[in-house]
Amino acid sequence: MHLSLTSALAVFLLSLQAPVSAAEITPADVTEVAPGAFVRHGVHALIDKNNAGGIANIGFVIGSESIAVIDSGGSFLDGARLRAAIKQRSNLPIRYVINTHVHPDHIFGNAAFLQDTPIFIGHRNLPRAMQARGAHYLAANKLLMSAAAFEGTEVIPPSQTVESQSVIDLGERRLVLDAVKTAHTDADLTVLDESTGTLWTGDLLFQKHLPVVDGRLKGWLEVMDKLSALPVTRAVPGHGPVSLPWPEALEPQRAYLTKLAGDLRGLIAEGKTMRHASSIAGQSERDKWLLFEEFNTRNATAGFAELEWE
Ligand SMILES: [Zn+2]
Repeated sequence: MHLSLTSALAVFLLSLQAPVSAAEITPADVTEVAPGAFVRHGVHALIDKNNAGGIANIGFVIGSESIAVIDSGGSFLDGARLRAAIKQRSNLPIRYVINTHVHPDHIFGNAAFLQDTPIFIGHRNLPRAMQARGAHYLAANKLLMSAAAFEGTEVIPPSQTVESQSVIDLGERRLVLDAVKTAHTDADLTVLDESTGTLWTGDLLFQKHLPVVDGRLKGWLEVMDKLSALPVTRAVPGHGPVSLPWPEALEPQRAYLTKLAGDLRGLIAEGKTMRHASSIAGQSERDKWLLFEEFNTRNATAGFAELEWE
């Protein structure tokens, strides 16, 4: 049997209007970086109409009883694709959705997991950060990405927060969650998958993609020193390859942030203005990073304001 031209057209028009159903979601392409730990690689780009906000490394860890999502992606669609990748691999319940910090590419997939009624977990400062920035992030991202990707995107605050350290058990698999001091942002959370020695750093670690300072330069360097001493085999950075050897993975970022801070201290000592300093500081690192133009001046400006008063 074949459809008449009219009914074929009607089906086509209906398909344009129908919301994307679960069956039509293309599962995210994920890499198993350690047994039962899967990462979707984020593209090195700003959020745009083509990438559905999928610019951060996000993923999930499967225990013997349940699953934890670690960062949900940059839109409802990005989160739904990650969820579809989980469902391809396991029918265990998705009991936790962990957000490593407030940036939209890490939290805007949360709503795709509401149907699983998970516990949403974040740093003790995450509710405040979401409250302060959520509406702005929603408005901005709605303009940046396609309507189909953004539809359904919401700010879902944590239902449980981490004061200092918390442990969750996925069944024979402990995840240790540490709320660190202000570094990349003021709400950074790390997740250590003890059984495989895998540290999910969120955006406390960038590689290739220029690190972005939205917290404190000095705090970030101090946090990196602490993290480097952890008994870890590999890290999953927020932006960069899906898995990196530890602690060597920290070195390019340490070099950049150290150089930026050093340049700024020198320029401040010479009495240069913020505008002048931010056009010079860190420039010698330019060729080592992607998205340098997009973020270095901003980093230098933030760093100047921080270091001016030390
Ligand atoms: Zn971030």
